[in-house]
Parts: sequence; C-alpha cells; structure tokens
Amino acid sequence: MSIRESSYYWLECDTCTEKSTEGGDFGAWSEVSQAIDEATNGDWWIGDDGQHYCFDHAPRCITCKDMLESDRTCDNEENHDESH
Ligand SMILES: [Zn+2]
Ligand SMILES: [Zn+2]
Repeated sequence: MSIRESSYYWLECDTCTEKSTEGGDFGAWSEVSQAIDEATNGDWWIGDDGQHYCFDHAPRCITCKDMLESDRTCDNEENHDESH
C-alpha cells in the first residue's frame, strides 16, 4: 500500500471569497473540470479572462441586469432598445 497525496479543487469568488462548493454535497473536486461544472450549474460566473464570481457578484448588464456572458457581452443586446 502506498500513501498518495492528491489535489482538490474548488472555485472562490474574486469579490467575496465564497467557495463554489459551499452548501454543496462535496467540499472539493478532484478534477478542475468538475469544480467548474458544478460552479456553473450553481449560477457562478466564469470569465474568459480567468475571473470567477459567485451569483451575487457576477457581472451584470447595466441595461437589462442580466448576467453577462463569459466575454462580458450581454445576451439580450438586440432587445435593449425595446426595454426602454
Ligand atoms: Zn461573491
Ligand atoms: Zn443587457
């Protein structure tokens, strides 16, 4: 038998340092992709620039208040004019 060490992963909000696994079934994941999948399912925001935010601190559109895409564009851009 051997003793091995492994790394675990979770995401932390860049604003409030809340953990993506808080309140979840697992405290950490053995794969980065699992941690990211779980966080995205839990409404976390993951930016193309490597930033991570919890639901409360995810970047939002100033016009329609929807959560922005990972490249910080708004999905509803074409509907913005109608909302005025
Ligand atoms: Zn946060
Ligand atoms: Zn918008």
